[in-house]
Order: sequence, then C-alpha cells, then structure tokens
Amino acid sequence: MKLVVVGFGQCGCNIADEFYAINNYAKSLFNRRIEILTDAFAINTDEADLGGFKHIPGDKSHRILIGTMSTFGHGVGKINATAAEIIKDSHAVVTDTILKSQKFHETDAIMAIASGGGGTGSGTIGWTIKELKERVAKPIYAMVVLPFGFEEKGDTSYAVMNTATCLNTVSQYADAIFLVDNERFRKTGSSLAQNFKQINQEIVQNFYDLCCAGEERNEKYVGSKVIDAGDIKQSLAELSVIGRGQVDLSAFYRRRRSHYREGVKERSSAAGALLQAENNLTMGFDLRDARRILALISGPKDVLTLTMLEEMSGFLQAKAPKAVIRIGDYPRRSKDISVTLIASELTKVPRVQNMFVKAKDLFQKREEITKETTRKLKQLREISKDLPTLA
Ligand code: GDP
Repeated sequence: MKLVVVGFGQCGCNIADEFYAINNYAKSLFNRRIEILTDAFAINTDEADLGGFKHIPGDKSHRILIGTMSTFGHGVGKINATAAEIIKDSHAVVTDTILKSQKFHETDAIMAIASGGGGTGSGTIGWTIKELKERVAKPIYAMVVLPFGFEEKGDTSYAVMNTATCLNTVSQYADAIFLVDNERFRKTGSSLAQNFKQINQEIVQNFYDLCCAGEERNEKYVGSKVIDAGDIKQSLAELSVIGRGQVDLSAFYRRRRSHYREGVKERSSAAGALLQAENNLTMGFDLRDARRILALISGPKDVLTLTMLEEMSGFLQAKAPKAVIRIGDYPRRSKDISVTLIASELTKVPRVQNMFVKAKDLFQKREEITKETTRKLKQLREISKDLPTLA
C-alpha cells in the first residue's frame, strides 16, 4: 500500500517526517527497494515549527505555511477554532498541492495526521479531510494523537476540548481514524523531545511491514496470503488502533531447526509477537469491541506455516468473536517474527468516551469562568473609574 502523508501542526508534521524517513529506508538499495510513500507534506501556522524536522523536503510546496495574514507565522496559540477559520480560507493551496503531487495517481490512500490537543493540527485536519473527500475517491485516513494525562488536568485544559472537537469533526469525514494515545507510550526518565521522537518512530514502524507487504515485487518474498491495499481498506472503518510485536529467533535456530523443539519455539515466538502486538496497540480497549481485525505475520519463509496462521486466527477469533478477521503472511524477515495488528470499527473506547464527557463539562465551566471574569473586571473598572489617567 502506498500512502501520501500529510502532517498538520507540530505533532502531525513530526510524524509525517518519520514516515518520510521510513520510506527512504524501505526503498534504499541495501534494503527492500520498496516505495510505501508517494509523497509527504507538512502544514503549519507556525513558521519556526516547519523548520524543526529533517526528512520532508524543505521547498515551499512540501512545507506549507498557512494563515500568515492573521498569525504572521507565529501559530494559533492552542486555539483550534482560529486554525479552523484559517484552513477554511486556505484549504485550496493545501488540497491542490496534494492532488497535484507528482505520483499522486499511484497513491492508494491519504493519511492525514495531527495531535488532538494542539491548536493548528486539531483545527485544520478535519476541514482538509472534508475538502479532499469532495475531490478524491481514494480512502482518506486520519491519525489523531491524544494528549498525555498531565495535559488534561485543570478546568481550562485546551488539550481535552481541542481533542474532543477535533475527533468530533474528523469522524464526520475520514474513512477511518487511527487513535494514538501519548500516555500509553510515556517513558519516564527521558526528556519530552526524546519521548516524542521515540513515540513517533514506534507509531510509524507499525506501518512498515503492512505497507511493504502488498508492494513486494520479489517473488521469493511474496506471501501465500498477501495483504494488499484492498485488504487494508476493507479492514478499516471508524475508530481504529494499530500495534506491532516482534520476537527475535535465536541466532542458532537455523542449524537446529529440524529438531521438534525448534518448531515449538517458532510457534511460541509467533504467539509471543501476537501478544506483544496486542499489548502495544496505540490505545487501550477491549478486543471484544472490535468489529474488524487485520493481522500480518512476517518472518522467514519456512517458519511461517499454515498451523501458525490457524493458531493466530483461533486466538483472535476467541478474543474478538464479533470481528471479521483477515490474516496474511509476509516472508520477509530473516532473524525475527513480527506481527502487525489492526483492530478497527471499535464500538467502545473508554478513553475517548471519557474525553467527550470531560470536554462537555469543561466547555460549560469555561462559559462560567468567562462570565465571572467579565463581571469581576467590570467591578475593578468601576472602582478606578473616578481616578485621573495620564493619557
Ligand atoms: P499544534 O502545532 O498547534 O497543532 O500543536 P502540537 O502538535 O504541538 O500539539 C500539542 C499536543 O501534541 C500535545 O498533546 C503534545 O503532547 C503532542 N505532541 C506534540 N509534538 C508531538 C510529537 O512529535 N509526537 C507526539 N506523539 N505528540 C506530540
């Protein structure tokens, strides 16, 4: 599957940049020589943020500054309603650039990425998807990053209100939304910048085998049950999550592989990778609430047996009895077994439901705070009104 990736705001652009990096890696001569991206774009209202990443080309048609007339390139200061107004005026430059990109005809889907908690990304992603949806028939997926727990504290948390309004808008237009919970990836003891870098790399790694599998041209690496863009499209709807697990095969397993114990080890490695993938899903929820599941197992060709796929299918069927399950193999890896898992059409996501309830409460509180502030400021002015000024 080939994607065109569009990042909105700082978080979205950083993740889009990691997608660009992984595509460079995938297509390199010493690696798979497979292209999984047709292009990547970064959209922001903050000029400084557009310079903060490494891989997306630096020209103005890849890094697009919007809203200069109102923000002068300094961002929207977390007010996503301002960003939404800006994109309503400047969506044409964004959509035209994406649709006119050189290899757009090869793209299987568009992936739009933003944080829910910021201003620019959360305010611009929904409207852009709406505009793109009117102009292209290809699927448009969104990835929305939910804030860390500490960002949600207090009676005036923009992170909560922005995320809620962003998800509410995006869910009207996107074909599916990948939810990513920053809190789930949190690493204590490392800096925020390191945390972001690591989280972004982990997020993007999830798509590596998945996108490569259907683009593989070397016959010896083509799976017996290939997962291609069509399968991915059928596996995605509404709220979705993705995760990946990887278990290294022992360095000596090839020499001993005829021994029955090695066969057991291979199967338990696959089971381990699947469990890890489930644990690493980008948002916590109960698999019973998924209605579509896609699993891709990658490893050495002679290790990926029918029994292994059957066991995986049985495991997932038991965990998600109401889901349509698609399983594929990709015999590409030589030293490890990796499982990529997508759970989609989620009918219950407590984290998102709580966020909506909290946001409703905060909007109400904000109204009360605004009224109280106006009243108190008026009182303050009343007290000073008879004093002389120096104007
Ligand atoms: P914007 O530029 O106004 O859209 O704002 P940001 O994208 O900086 O949004 C702030 C939110 O995004 C907060 O919840 C941050 O925790 C999160 N965030 C910012 N940068 C990154 C990043 O590179 N990766 C991840 N995973 N989260 C980020």
